Amino acid sequence: MAKKRKQKKRGEAVFRGLGVSPGIGIGVVHLHQTDAVTVPEYRIPQTGIAAERERFAKATAAARRQIGRLRAKAKGMSNSAAGELDFLLDAYQQMLKNSRLVRGVDQRIVRDRINAEAAVQAEVAEIAEAFAAMDDAYLAARLDDIREVGRRLIGNLTKTVRKIPSRMPRDSIVVAQEMTPADTALLDPGRAAGITAEVGGAEGHTAIMARALGLPAVLAVPGLLKGARAGDSIVIDGDAGQVVVNPSPATLAVFQRLRSEKQREKRQLSRLKRQPAITLDGVEVTLLANVELPIEMALVNQAGAAGIGLLRSEFMFMNREDLPGEEEQFQVLRTMVEPMEGKPVTIRTLDVGGEKISGAVMGDFRESASSALGLRGIRLSLARDELLEIQFRACLRVSAFGNVRILLPMVTTVAEVRQARAILARAARRLKRRGAAMASALPLLGVMIEVPGAALAADALAQACDFFAIGSNDLTMYTLAVDRGDDQVAHLYNPLHPAILRLIQFATAAALRARIPVSVCGEIAGDPRFLALLLGLGLREFSMTPSNIPRVKKRILALDSIAAAARAGVIMDQMDAGRIAMLLDDFNALA
Ligand code: PEP
Ligand code: MG
Repeated sequence: MAKKRKQKKRGEAVFRGLGVSPGIGIGVVHLHQTDAVTVPEYRIPQTGIAAERERFAKATAAARRQIGRLRAKAKGMSNSAAGELDFLLDAYQQMLKNSRLVRGVDQRIVRDRINAEAAVQAEVAEIAEAFAAMDDAYLAARLDDIREVGRRLIGNLTKTVRKIPSRMPRDSIVVAQEMTPADTALLDPGRAAGITAEVGGAEGHTAIMARALGLPAVLAVPGLLKGARAGDSIVIDGDAGQVVVNPSPATLAVFQRLRSEKQREKRQLSRLKRQPAITLDGVEVTLLANVELPIEMALVNQAGAAGIGLLRSEFMFMNREDLPGEEEQFQVLRTMVEPMEGKPVTIRTLDVGGEKISGAVMGDFRESASSALGLRGIRLSLARDELLEIQFRACLRVSAFGNVRILLPMVTTVAEVRQARAILARAARRLKRRGAAMASALPLLGVMIEVPGAALAADALAQACDFFAIGSNDLTMYTLAVDRGDDQVAHLYNPLHPAILRLIQFATAAALRARIPVSVCGEIAGDPRFLALLLGLGLREFSMTPSNIPRVKKRILALDSIAAAARAGVIMDQMDAGRIAMLLDDFNALA
């Protein structure tokens, strides 16, 4: 008989990962079994192909039904993730119709004469390879969805029962190799205290779900499953991206204190939702949301955003081989404009190119469009103006349902704005002839200030457009010649470089002189550290990831605009980014 060995008590083990949903989770390890199904592979005789295709069609239909049932269940959920989950499950159901995945599997069965399970596995692997080559966080997130659908299909074909996270003890930290978004959304936040997994990214649906559920999450943690066993005590820090298995009593006490502080802070922040963002000396500030996916709409509402300052429309064009038509774009945009109930929604026209790749749009322009200095943003839209007109028509139609503004990315010349305006007018004429409903006035047409040339020509651009949105992300990249996505030069990416600040100052002053609205929608707008400086430069509108709105509002409430302007004046006389940072941080520490 095997002698039962006494388990040696294992010491504290610290892991690092990506903090994708803030907060501290303290509890015990609940291992989430990702269904490790062995996929059978065999050849099908010519005479068996029709039957195999039929078997695949049945598995697909069954998956659609299962997801339909999950949708019904999700609708009954009272928490804030219900809407997001419904959208996600709808996307799964669409993928189970005539998608590249389904068509590809069917073709493989016929062409390669292999069984359906093997065909699903091969097709998902090929799509994954194509996506990986593009190195795009958004596509990586879509890939998780495709994998999820593939797993479900294989489960149905092999008749493996799929496990949904079951009832778990309170204060469970879900530890997984990979958590799917659907599994995450079905977690009971009353029992789960956090999520950590070996894979996943900050832009993925799993991360979005975790944020919607308010569950701290740390993803992309190498070696996690080797270090954690069911029942171990565990702490996760979703802000710092840290996981501690078997924490010592001293470590545990530190995290308990941190958790209490954060919970208190969160409670205080949530009270700010309805409070207007006004500085100590009575200056009103507008806090808007940046939105990349329709599923974020619930977060926009929760955060108390005054509108959408940047709706990145790229999501409608990615992860597909065809292009979305006017009707499809209109329907999707309507789901985002209508719930805003008249608050401004700033729809940015397609900004593919550079690091944001979309094969179907770029077609013949691929090489130029993949360069950050090539056919990006408005340049690509003007080179394929039929696409821009379709997008404008969708925006114009959705203007009948709210307060729509249109924003042009990567503008460098006044001529680009004029051309775009002419296409907008043409789109409106066509719609009028068709008798389509739209707002009585054309939407305001704005320009992103995200290229140094645009910032320096801001006074001319201000005469040609109706508002500015300053994109500090690209403005920093282009001004300092530092690729946003290259970690080898990340230390040089510094929005506090005097060159960037001067460009922001110049563009803001030009907008104020021309009496057009100006906002900042790059990442600095959502970071309380930069607020005093931006406010001091005369900016009053900021657009950011919805979850940052409460923190930024809190900072606004503590600021005095006169003192901020005085400090901005001192900062703008400086030559050195290090000294600027010091002057800003000193001011922040006091005010
Ligand atoms: C920016 O460049 O600052 C911006 C907001 O646009 P994006 O991040 O989508 O390029
Ligand atoms: Mg940009």
